[in-house]
Amino acid sequence: MKNRIASHVQQLQPSGIRRFFDLAANMEGVISLGVGEPDFITSWNIREACIASLHNGHTSYTANAGLIELRTEISKYLMHQFNVDYRPTSDIIVTVGASQALDLAIRAIVDPDDEVIVIEPSFVSYAPLIELAGGKAVKVGANPDKGFSINFEKLTASITSRTKAILLCFPNNPTGTMLTKEELIQISRIVEMHDLLVLSDEIYAELSFDDAFTSFATLPGMKDRTILISGFSKGFAMTGWRLGFVAGPSDIVEAMLKIHQYAMMCASTMAQYGAIEALKNGRKDIEEMKKSYKRRRNYFVASLNEIGMPCHQPGGAFYAFPSIKQTGLSSQEFAEKLLIEEKVAVVPGDVFGKSGEGYVRCSYASSLEQLQEAVKRMERFVKNYR
Ligand code: PMP
Repeated sequence: MKNRIASHVQQLQPSGIRRFFDLAANMEGVISLGVGEPDFITSWNIREACIASLHNGHTSYTANAGLIELRTEISKYLMHQFNVDYRPTSDIIVTVGASQALDLAIRAIVDPDDEVIVIEPSFVSYAPLIELAGGKAVKVGANPDKGFSINFEKLTASITSRTKAILLCFPNNPTGTMLTKEELIQISRIVEMHDLLVLSDEIYAELSFDDAFTSFATLPGMKDRTILISGFSKGFAMTGWRLGFVAGPSDIVEAMLKIHQYAMMCASTMAQYGAIEALKNGRKDIEEMKKSYKRRRNYFVASLNEIGMPCHQPGGAFYAFPSIKQTGLSSQEFAEKLLIEEKVAVVPGDVFGKSGEGYVRCSYASSLEQLQEAVKRMERFVKNYR
C-alpha cells in the first residue's frame, strides 16, 4: 500500500531531545542534565491515596471531565493559590497531563490555516500540536540579550488576520524565564486589541523562585480569553502519573470536553485519587521541593557563569539555558562532544527553535553532588575552546 502514513505525520520531525536520551542511555557514567523532570519521588501520602483507591475498588471510569471531587479541589487550589475563579462543574477538565490539555485546547480552537503564535525558544510539543490540528505555528523569537523576555516589536509584527491565539509559557521551558506583571499586562493589551485568545501553559507556576507568579487569567479582561493549562507533573513531582488539567471559559471547555470524551474518555482513575490528596495535603512538600530547586539554581547558574558559560538568572522551573557561543560550536556539536568527551548530557538549544541556537538546556533537577561533578566536567570541556 502506498502512503500508509498520513502525509502531515510523515512531515513531522521526531523530538530532538529523544536522540540525546538514546545516545546517553548506551553510555556508562553519564551525568544527565537532559531530562525535564523533578528528581523527587512523589510524596508518600499521595502514593498511599492512590493505593487506597485501588483497595477500595475504585477501578471504573470517572466522569469524562474527571472526578467531581478532584475538580472541586482544583477549583479551590486555583482560587487559593493563583486567585482565579473556575467552577468545577463547567470550567475544568482533568486531562492526561498538561500535554493532553494542550492538545485539547489547540484542537478546540484552531481551524485550518489559523495561526497560533509561539514564543521561541519553546517547549518542543507546541508547534507540532498546532500543525497536527491543521493550524500554522508562527514562531516569534524572544530577546536573548534580555534573559529571553518577550520581544514586543516582533510579537506585534507577527499578528495577521489569521492569528487566533498566543501560546505563552512562564516560567519557561527551556529558558526558565519568568514574565513580569508589566510584560503580561502589555501582552493582554495586544490580545484585547487584536481579539485573540491566550493559551497559558502554567505547568511551572509552582516553581517561581523570586517574584510572585501572576496567572494570566487574573489580568483585566483576560479571563474570557484565557485557556489555563497546568498539571501535577512538575510542582507535585508526578510526571509518571500523567495527570493535568485545563480551565477556561465554559464554551471552550465544553468544546474541549466533546473531543476529550471521544479521544480519551477520562484520565486514569487511580491517579485522580492521588491528585485529590496532592491538592488537599501537598503544600508543605511543594514548598520544600521549591526551596531545594532554588538552592540548586543559585549554585548551578553562578557556577556556569564562573566557568565561562554565560547564563541569565532563570526565575523559575528547573532549567538553566547558558550560552555556548564563545566555544564556536553549534549547540548540536557542543551537546554531542560534551556527551562523548565528558559524559554530561545536556539538550542542544536549537531543538527548542531557531532562536535557541547558541545555547544548551541544562536541567538542574539533579543532586548537588552530581551538579558539582557536571560543572567540573563542563569547565574542563569549555576550556579547550577558549
Ligand atoms: N508544558 C511544558 C512547558 C512542559 O515542559 C511539559 C513537560 N516537559 C509539559 C507541558 C507537559 O507536561 P505533562 O507531564 O503534564 O504532560
